[in-house]
Amino acid sequence: MRAAPEKIPGVRTLIVGAGFGGIAAAIELRRHGFEDITVLESAPELGGTWFYNDYPGAACDVPSHMYSFSFAQRRDWSRLCSPRQEILDYLRQVVDDHGIRPLIRLSQTVASATFDEAAARWRVTTDGGETHEADALIIATGQLNRPAIPRLPGADTFAGHSFHSARWDHDYDLAGKRVAVVGTGASAIQFVPRIAPLVRELTVYQRTPNWLLPRRNHVYPPLVRGLIARVPGLQQLRRALLFNFLEGLTLSIRHPRTVGRVSAWRSARFMRSQTPDPELRRRIWPDYTFGCKRVLFSSHYLPALSRPNVELVTEPVAEITASGITAGDGVARPADCIIWATGFRATELVAPMQVQGAAGRDLQDAWTEGAHAHLGLTVPGFPSLFLMYGPNTNTSGGSIIFFEETQAAYIRQALTHLRDGGYQTIDVRPEVEAAGNRELQRRFTGTAWMDCHSWYQNEGGRIVANWPGYMREYLEATRRFEPADFQFTRAPAPAPTAVA
Ligand code: NAP
Repeated sequence: MRAAPEKIPGVRTLIVGAGFGGIAAAIELRRHGFEDITVLESAPELGGTWFYNDYPGAACDVPSHMYSFSFAQRRDWSRLCSPRQEILDYLRQVVDDHGIRPLIRLSQTVASATFDEAAARWRVTTDGGETHEADALIIATGQLNRPAIPRLPGADTFAGHSFHSARWDHDYDLAGKRVAVVGTGASAIQFVPRIAPLVRELTVYQRTPNWLLPRRNHVYPPLVRGLIARVPGLQQLRRALLFNFLEGLTLSIRHPRTVGRVSAWRSARFMRSQTPDPELRRRIWPDYTFGCKRVLFSSHYLPALSRPNVELVTEPVAEITASGITAGDGVARPADCIIWATGFRATELVAPMQVQGAAGRDLQDAWTEGAHAHLGLTVPGFPSLFLMYGPNTNTSGGSIIFFEETQAAYIRQALTHLRDGGYQTIDVRPEVEAAGNRELQRRFTGTAWMDCHSWYQNEGGRIVANWPGYMREYLEATRRFEPADFQFTRAPAPAPTAVA
């Protein structure tokens, strides 16, 4: 039996968000003896993006043996890539197994967080008017939590029903309806094949085509499940193989003129095989480098576009009218329902939460040229604040759970150093953060990510979402907390009492 960790009182920690990131942080701190932790979650359930993204066909396209915590490996995943419900069930089980459910407070939306310099603490206020204080604040709201609906001319005039893919309206029956889907990213390609057979007409509005690869996601046969469950080491071997397979996608993106060409060829061959109609093929064909935008995995999306009740419109959306959508070709196509599959406000990290650091500085003011943070984790001038899945920690090829686990371990090391050193606050040195970010941005040069516009970039074209390298490099960069990169403060010594 493992010895119980030594209890470390005194560092009161507040975590915002009970998705994979917030839960990873809470478990890591708990496992290392930190006791005073509260997790505030705005949703009525835990799960973050997996709670909200409940569209038909919602699933992960990263294999579950990698899209899971290393410390909570399951041997009985039903298939290679799990559907949403299986992922949520897994997360709930992990929460219960690690006893952190009592730490989570649901339906608590954090409105603001202000660093009180005199007290050297964070004061956090919720929409409901509650105030919390903490020595350390971990914001784990992630990059993909705020649905984006474009402001299009006439949007207010639409008389039909509409919703965003991440807020699916299950009370609205799509059967027999004329449905418009705007957007063709990772979410749309999962639900379009599911709803196409149900609806009367489906019009898919594509702004930019995507590179696609097959997704062979068969249920694991009992023999395979049995072997994984019983043969010692097979699970770890499988995870290691998947890890390297995923790193291979990053290799293609980092080397678009060599390895990337091979991947593009593979994708093109697959896409050709799925689009016998040359006109449809012409319209779904990407004209940018493979891997610049997220490569999509689906064996059902392109065939769905060939259905007789499905039309792909590649003209831009010009106007929303009371009865539907008018595209750039001037054709008004009626719709009973518009589904916005238009992604997330990924570059507006942390918003709309107001975060004020030292000297009353607003986090958004520190990020006017785009979000940035030391290893995606800490921002100078925001003492004892940590971000999970922060700037430049998204991955196009890997598993975000892997990143979040390493981030949680780094934060735990930082807070242990704070606690053991008797310090009050920890703040990354501005020059360390600036140098790290210069190097990080430099590493994008020559990669596929630089060859088009994607949601990874802010309006100025700077990539603020993605890590420029491999998972193993991020692990290496964050493996050991480096105290010299930080400034620490101590509580002022108490004034000597006058002796009469
Ligand atoms: P997305 O990838 O950002 O796709 C948004 C789509 O909407 C794009 O096709 C975009 O076109 C289009 N769009 C945006 N504004 C538009 C406008 N004004 N007019 C017309 N089209 C417009 O969003 P998503 O599909 O929700 O996926 C977001 C991310 O979530 C993914 O990249 C991925 O990281 C994650 N995700 C993961 C999984 C998984 O299985 N692991 C599944 C779903 C989502 P442009 O390309 O031209 O911008």
